[in-house]
Amino acid sequence: MLLHIGLDDTDSPEGGCTTYVAALLAERLLALGAEFADYPTLLRLNPNTPWKTRGNASVCLRFHLDEARQGDAKKAMLQLVDTYGEFWCDNTNPGVVFHFGEVPQEVKEFSDRTVKQIVSLSEAEALIERHGMAAVGWKNRRGIIGALAAVGGTLEGDHTYEVLTYRAPENWGQERRVDAETVRRMDHALGDATFNNVDEEGHPLITPHGPDPVLYGVRGETADAVYRALTLVKALEPVERWMIYRSNQGTDAHFGAPVKVRELKPFNPAVVDAKVVSSPETLQGGHVIFRASDDSGEVDCAAYEPTGSFRHIVWALIPGDILRVYAGVRELEDRLTLNIEKMEVIGLADDVGYMNPRCPECGGSMESMGQGQGYRCKKCGHRDRGLVKVPFSKPRDLKPGVYLPDRDAHRHLTKPLERCGREKKYAPSPMIDGWIGFPTRSP
Ligand SMILES: [Zn+2]
Repeated sequence: MLLHIGLDDTDSPEGGCTTYVAALLAERLLALGAEFADYPTLLRLNPNTPWKTRGNASVCLRFHLDEARQGDAKKAMLQLVDTYGEFWCDNTNPGVVFHFGEVPQEVKEFSDRTVKQIVSLSEAEALIERHGMAAVGWKNRRGIIGALAAVGGTLEGDHTYEVLTYRAPENWGQERRVDAETVRRMDHALGDATFNNVDEEGHPLITPHGPDPVLYGVRGETADAVYRALTLVKALEPVERWMIYRSNQGTDAHFGAPVKVRELKPFNPAVVDAKVVSSPETLQGGHVIFRASDDSGEVDCAAYEPTGSFRHIVWALIPGDILRVYAGVRELEDRLTLNIEKMEVIGLADDVGYMNPRCPECGGSMESMGQGQGYRCKKCGHRDRGLVKVPFSKPRDLKPGVYLPDRDAHRHLTKPLERCGREKKYAPSPMIDGWIGFPTRSP
């Protein structure tokens, strides 16, 4: 019997990680005799949710297990949440969902909406009841939403893989020790088979900065590729365990079809086709902001300081430029702002400048004789009251194309440029032997 266990929201800003609890569970399930039907699902949910703890990740494990052992599997799950859940944090409200058999279509659709919008707990609970699933929620039970979304996140379209390695508990909270040179060499050796390993200057991006148990994670196109990365990166501290996930990271799964400015909703991701209507301005802190409009309204668009050199692209915009903006919608003092995650420059406006006319007699340069007074030739002295400034097109410091913030400012769901055109159709591949490992727990 195929069993799915979805899990969400056990972490807090001060520690923990839902994926770590899932990795511990996977080990216990293997000990119970479980046969995994797929890689664990690592599903990133709507990154603009106000209730998220950190990365807004939920996880689902899918496996076959003897009916006699299924009670033990459930018990193990609940015990792990009790032990590792960061219950003290207001925003930590763990949820677990158990489901037997195939995943119902409407649960898959619910999952897709949880990535793209804000969904309600009552919606999730209605689905759970209708399909006879079991769910356990702690505190305000909000984690049930993500847990159900993970169950429905069967990733039948585009997907990527990530190997996550975890630290020995005694090192949690300490500085992470990974040989940076081996990260650069791995990045070079694996080419486009993995992504976002290093930033524009070659500094490793694979280690998180928080107090969570993750040592590093490598994202890529196949399980083989991220497993190879694991063998190439040298950790300078013990790796307690690793697990390879199949994920919607790096797929732009949070973006749907373009919407009108009038239809924007706070906390949702949005794609908007719009025209620039004001020149970009730099605010305190280095944030860059401009106004854009479509036939339904106007909205602020912002590129924040951490987006780095992306702001040079934004600075080069002028009124009249045509854009497709990919953003998170934020509401500040009753005004909606598009927090830009990605931008396609579709059309460039003519940047018109005006210069003094040339002398009609000798071709020399002319100077103004005053407002509306015409021009006088500096070379031959010819005067002409009828002459006016001459328009010309200034060269644009911008080309049409797709632009992203610096890599360290990417959202987990942001599709890197090198993935464009490499999107996968669902093609389940057999699980590789090294999908899970426990290096420091040898028997
Ligand atoms: Zn002249």
